[in-house]
Amino acid sequence: MNAHDSEKVVGTLVGQGYSQVETPEDAELVLYNTCSIRDKAEQKVFNRLDRFKRENKGKTFAVLGCVAQQEGEKIFERAPHVSMVCGSASYNQLPQMLVQLEAGNKRVTGLSLDTEDTFETPYTRRDNPHRAYVTIIEGCDKKCAYCVVPFTRGPERSSTSDSVLREAADLARSGYSEIQLLGQNVNSYRDPSPTGWNFAQLLDGVGKVPGIRRVRFTTSHPRDFTKEIIDAIDRNPNLCNHVHLPVQSGSTEVLRGMQRSYSLEEYMLRIQWMKSAARPIAITSDIIVGFPGETEADFEATLALLDEVEYDALFSFKYSRRPNTPALALEDHISEEEKSRRLAILQEHQRAIQIRRNAQYVGVVAECMVEGFNKATGQWMGRTSQHKMVNFLRPSSDEDITGTYLEVRVTRSGPNSLVGEAVQ
Ligand code: SAH
Ligand code: SF4
Repeated sequence: MNAHDSEKVVGTLVGQGYSQVETPEDAELVLYNTCSIRDKAEQKVFNRLDRFKRENKGKTFAVLGCVAQQEGEKIFERAPHVSMVCGSASYNQLPQMLVQLEAGNKRVTGLSLDTEDTFETPYTRRDNPHRAYVTIIEGCDKKCAYCVVPFTRGPERSSTSDSVLREAADLARSGYSEIQLLGQNVNSYRDPSPTGWNFAQLLDGVGKVPGIRRVRFTTSHPRDFTKEIIDAIDRNPNLCNHVHLPVQSGSTEVLRGMQRSYSLEEYMLRIQWMKSAARPIAITSDIIVGFPGETEADFEATLALLDEVEYDALFSFKYSRRPNTPALALEDHISEEEKSRRLAILQEHQRAIQIRRNAQYVGVVAECMVEGFNKATGQWMGRTSQHKMVNFLRPSSDEDITGTYLEVRVTRSGPNSLVGEAVQ
């Protein structure tokens, strides 16, 4: 989402007559987009701003994103060389803010969380010419105990189904064949127009847009994840058979502390829906280790969950305290060393699962969207509908096949990717 925010911001600036350069050194205006979901993001941002100041004297600086929203005008105090601070919910105000900046105003702010939508602008500058992100819902109302997002991105608001379909059709006309629907919580999507679609209905609609061959979506919250979504995937071959369904913990007790609003049993029901789907759906997830109160037994319940689900991939993190969040009231009693120990065990456990799972693909022929060529290895890189990375060989030719779709036979597997050869 953060990367796509940058695409929107770049587009807005280009629309105002700015042009993009490759490095901060070449720029007159430096916009620094930040994320504060984990770790000590604030400190990193101020360190980086200090460095910018030393190395890039005489430029105009702006801070965008979560840290901008969170620290607000305090940024001007700690980093007086910054002239603009703008949170992600206010990016639609950027054109006016840039005018103020150009007029010499040294304290320009956009910090309202209560703005009209900031979905897609006509200018969004996409980095990838084949795969495009499309925001369908902004913000989050879930208020998980550890999470800063509701405070940095504001309340949930959805784009109309009409504008999502129009955007998808425009993208198809511009040559994009894969789109990724984005939101902190795509399952909570509610079409605000009289059409009134839910997320499964939106998937059905986007899956039928001519020219769009692959549709992905992220992130799904288990609470609002319905069987209808799986039925939509089964019905529409253009919807990729991959679901990212963050669980966070395998212990219902910890899930309660996290205020995730589902039990392990409810989560497992959703996993069963996916496992009994007509198409083989790859399942990935997020885990936090060391949340306040997590016992050794809770942690082992998470390891047992990994064995049961056999995730295709996992993003795992050590719990970190974030500003404003309800979990700040809980004592963060688990030491950094213990969190690191649990994380290492978890990741090792998952690695063994991925080795086993990926080995099952050897001999399979899968359609890959070609993402590029790796000069160092002489292999092409592609992704399957299940989001597996495949490095493959094809008879030498100078033709650039990036963005095309090819059948690839898998010949070897590793924990994180597959190896194969293009089928003639
Ligand atoms: N909206 C998505 C996730 C957004 S944040 C969801 O609900 O699943 C991405 C991931 O960062 C989360 O799933 C969680 O695993 C991790 N995360 C968020 N806050 C965290 C914190 N305070 N400490 C550690 N990990 C965190
Ligand atoms: Fe954060 Fe929870 Fe919202 Fe995801 S659902 S963004 S983890 S508050």
